[in-house]
Amino acid sequence: MKLSRFGTKFTERIGINELMEDLGNALNAGGDMLMLGGGNPSLIPEITDALRKQTESILADGDAFSRMIGIYDTPQGKGAFLEALARLLNEQFNWGVTTENIALTHGSQSGFFCLFNMLAGTFDSGRKKRVLFPLTPEYIGYADSGLSPDFFTAARPDIDLLAESLFKYRIDFNAVDIDDSVGAVCLSRPTNPTGNVVTDEEVATLRALTEKQGIPLIIDSAYGTPFPNIIYTEANPVWDENMIVCMSLSKFGLPAARTGIVVARREIIKVLSSMTAVLSLAPGSVGPVLAQGLIADHSIIRLSREVIRPYYERKAHSAVRQLTQELAGINFRIHKPEGAMFLWLWFPDLPITCDELYQRLKKRGVLVVPGHYFFPGLQEDWPHKHQCLRVTYAQDDTIVEKGLAIIADEVKSLMA
Ligand code: PLP
Repeated sequence: MKLSRFGTKFTERIGINELMEDLGNALNAGGDMLMLGGGNPSLIPEITDALRKQTESILADGDAFSRMIGIYDTPQGKGAFLEALARLLNEQFNWGVTTENIALTHGSQSGFFCLFNMLAGTFDSGRKKRVLFPLTPEYIGYADSGLSPDFFTAARPDIDLLAESLFKYRIDFNAVDIDDSVGAVCLSRPTNPTGNVVTDEEVATLRALTEKQGIPLIIDSAYGTPFPNIIYTEANPVWDENMIVCMSLSKFGLPAARTGIVVARREIIKVLSSMTAVLSLAPGSVGPVLAQGLIADHSIIRLSREVIRPYYERKAHSAVRQLTQELAGINFRIHKPEGAMFLWLWFPDLPITCDELYQRLKKRGVLVVPGHYFFPGLQEDWPHKHQCLRVTYAQDDTIVEKGLAIIADEVKSLMA
């Protein structure tokens, strides 16, 4: 059978597919694999309870239940949810948005696919434009979402070496070239895989550069504000007509409901809604119905600040403490954990590639993600790409502790 170019693209090696399959196979195999690989959020009892209560009140209200399971929403998404969210964004952040500035998608992953291909690729003039990642490492899930070849470009960061074996990436604005060949600039904040929170100053500079060029700045807030707010530093949530802010209900605790949220100027929301109509008629209703009450009374903000953020922050600190002790004597660095649910480990003297290290760890029953996947768009060969690992600390403490001990042991045996 002959496939179109579009079809052929999906027969090639796709990092996010390999990652999701690897995780799924390890889960299905049962056994004792220590799952420090994926981006699945923790099942935090207080959050699960809050969502269970919402479910119970929906079940007790026949109308609400029927609306959740039995009616297609508009392609833009459930109206009552859009209204509640617009109110929350205006009251909390003064963004000045209306429901016309918000659209829902099937998870933010599919939102990125639509946005990227709407803003980059081939234009009427025949000109090709790319999506620029101003700071790599960056989210693996962006990597294969462009429909034409050579779709992404990226800049190498500056590296600040910090005390206590920590480090932090910063945008190297000398390497960020926003010219006519760039259709949009995108970054995740907090960043998957590093837990970096790009500073307010860096965001301000990017806003100025993108506005000057007349292209959007896309901020992926899957782990950020207003929910789930897994941010351990100060970060000002900003939006204006030149920005596109993407949010998700996944990391709040609803990954299976597949609800992504895009906040953008009206023209973009209209195009995005048409794309949803073509791709899937309407976004799912379960996530919006479950979360609507928590958004309407702002308890989603309180739960994010008082439950979710401290929960992950404590886990981040204990993971750093353990690794710092166990890796003493080895040349290693950990990216300063400022948010999300990952530790990004850097072994500058690693005698094998991070992919080989990943294979060895898998044999010892620990699943992590090798770092080289996280450099979408970066053309140059940079040894650093092969010296890093992403480790998720969202699992139960005992699993994380066991996994980290094995990682430290394996790395030490390699460097001895
Ligand atoms: N953006 C980032 C940075 C992520 O880590 C993820 C998932 O892990 C997504 C977007 C996609 O999330 P979802 O499609 O579940 O909303």
